[in-house]
Amino acid sequence: VKNYVRFEFQSLPENISFARSCVAAFAAQLDCTLDDIEEIKLVVSEAVSNSIIHGYASNPHEKVVIAVSIMDDDTLEIIVEDYGVGIEDVEKAMEPTYSTDPSRMGLGFTFMKSFMDELEVVSKPGKGTTVKLKR
Ligand code: ATP
Ligand code: MG
Repeated sequence: VKNYVRFEFQSLPENISFARSCVAAFAAQLDCTLDDIEEIKLVVSEAVSNSIIHGYASNPHEKVVIAVSIMDDDTLEIIVEDYGVGIEDVEKAMEPTYSTDPSRMGLGFTFMKSFMDELEVVSKPGKGTTVKLKR
């Protein structure tokens, strides 16, 4: 690892843009385009929203942790972690348009997958969810 940051914040919706900007500012050390930065912001928003809305059912008193690393080969690794309800069937949750909330589009994971090179989701029901994104 060449550089990393790690931070945690309360599960409040107003912290989504904070988290997104922090990760973008860190990623800007890499020589990347504005489009790259916009895509990074989008995937961070999707992952953090999922933790707050689904993981914590919008309870604002919980904790989300983000770790971002620039690896030795200059790839960027973003980890978003919550300690919420977890996901019963990760494969199914990652299918395009699948959502447990009928009012949502079910495209968060699909965006994460398409804008990043790698998406890994590890989740334990009742324990929480870790989303690892790389590009
Ligand atoms: P959209 O992102 O389009 O608003 P969505 O959040 O339902 O809709 P995805 O982001 O693709 O769609 O997530 C799919 C499903 O996976 C969610 O409906 C939810 O059931 C589950 N899920 C995703 N992230 C988490 C999480 N951190 N904790 C618990 N469940 C999650
Ligand atoms: Mg989502």
